[in-house]
Amino acid sequence: MPDATLEFLRSVVGADNVSVTAADREAHSLDESHHPPHLPDYVVWPENEQQISRILAYADEHRIPVTARSGGSSLDGNPIPVFGGIVLCFYRWDQILEVRPEDMLCVVQPGIIYDELNRKLSKYGLFFPPAPASHDVATIGGMVNNGSGGMHAFRYGVTRDYVLQLRVVLADGRILRIGSQAAKSASGYDLVRLFVGSEGTLGIITEVTLKLRAIPEISAALAIFPTVSDAARAASEIIAAGIVPGAMELMDAETVAYANRYCNLTLPESPMLVLEFHGTPSSVREEVGIVKEIVAECGCSQYQPATTVAEREQVWQARSQAHMAVKELNRDCVVTIGDIVVPISKYPDAVAQAHALGKKYGVRVCTFGHAGDGNIHADTIARRDVPGEPERGHQVHADLIRWALSVGGTATGEHGIGLGKREFLEIEHGPAVAVMRQMKRLFDPNGILNPGKIFMD
Ligand SMILES: Cc1cc2nc3c(=O)[nH]c(=O)nc-3n(C[C@H](O)[C@H](O)[C@H](O)COP(=O)(O)OP(=O)(O)OC[C@H]3O[C@@H](n4cnc5c(N)ncnc54)[C@H](O)[C@@H]3O)c2cc1C
Repeated sequence: MPDATLEFLRSVVGADNVSVTAADREAHSLDESHHPPHLPDYVVWPENEQQISRILAYADEHRIPVTARSGGSSLDGNPIPVFGGIVLCFYRWDQILEVRPEDMLCVVQPGIIYDELNRKLSKYGLFFPPAPASHDVATIGGMVNNGSGGMHAFRYGVTRDYVLQLRVVLADGRILRIGSQAAKSASGYDLVRLFVGSEGTLGIITEVTLKLRAIPEISAALAIFPTVSDAARAASEIIAAGIVPGAMELMDAETVAYANRYCNLTLPESPMLVLEFHGTPSSVREEVGIVKEIVAECGCSQYQPATTVAEREQVWQARSQAHMAVKELNRDCVVTIGDIVVPISKYPDAVAQAHALGKKYGVRVCTFGHAGDGNIHADTIARRDVPGEPERGHQVHADLIRWALSVGGTATGEHGIGLGKREFLEIEHGPAVAVMRQMKRLFDPNGILNPGKIFMD
């Protein structure tokens, strides 16, 4: 029987830009999380906004799920098309449309990769700061939709703080421009902030205007500690002293050991803070001096400046690859990454909680994260062939999230709710979830956009 949807899609984007082959469907069925893949029915590479508008209007009329996909590097199932339907691919939308150095902004297509954007911006002396650890695969569209943060977010803010304007296509095919290119605006409801972090459930983003920052003077260092609690305490003390490092990342000894093996590095296998200082040469010197004193008071056993580009790259490679190292070197295990954020004074407790819960449930836990903004990633490593261990791994995360919420934190700082944290939405937001659902219905009354994400049903 002819497939009317396939015929329609071919008529809109051309036969070469639609696929129903097993290989293409499989390649678009998963992300980097532990969640099982789910095959879409159609994989589509749209070429312009008008095509997207026609596809959405058709999908809305026929109640066909549509899930957008960019880099596919999400960590909680965010782009997995759990109800099948159409996957709309954006990784070919990788152009910078405009750079306006005098206004410190750029306009980009959503599929451009973070590193590639910054590489091209560097010739203007500008950069887009958040720096997710997945900087070499994450796209701007994915970062906007997951509300991504990263290694520079403590000093500069997260993706949300940089999105000035968006072009979006709504579920019924309407095309909107929301926001403005002004540095600030008090005009009407802030739809831009609503779309940031919406995980493709409110509309499809086709263009992003980003605010930029000037590239600062940078100096980096490793501070090694005897215990992970000392390292976490130092992070909290640095912030309490009013220092705002360009980056402050924590890794426990197990994580460093995995990163060393995976990346072929030789970092000391002890808990550490990876620090970057940004500013003018004199402000950087001053900050380094103060931080050295603070970390020494917290038991730092070795302070190792990373002065050359090669040294800095080694350090950042370890941190960027931390999760992939844990995952790839434990292929026989379910490796699940958590993403809680707590008020900074609770950061040392958060690290201790993660390890204590691992012990309680008999599941190995590695911790690392963006210590500056109170974000801790706990990787649970649960053996598939040990009955009950994957479930106990889940329990570690569930208890850790409940604890984070009890101290005023959040279930997710940057990976989004996706599939894995839906059960905590009500606990975190209470009756506000009903308002979120109403908003979802307003934008997407027939529930075609990335169904199954954020909300439990
Ligand atoms: C090793 C590793 C380290 C990581 N470190 C970090 C980190 O430090 N900080 C962080 O925030 N994240 C991190 N992540 C998670 C992930 O990389 C980010 O969330 C990233 O921003 C996702 O981008 P992507 O292009 O891969 O998006 P995808 O995974 O393709 O999609 C993300 C979400 O956006 C939606 N979407 C994509 N494009 C569009 C569009 N055009 N319109 C509407 N919806 C769209 C998708 O449906 C999905 O819900 C890490 C991941 C890995 C594997």
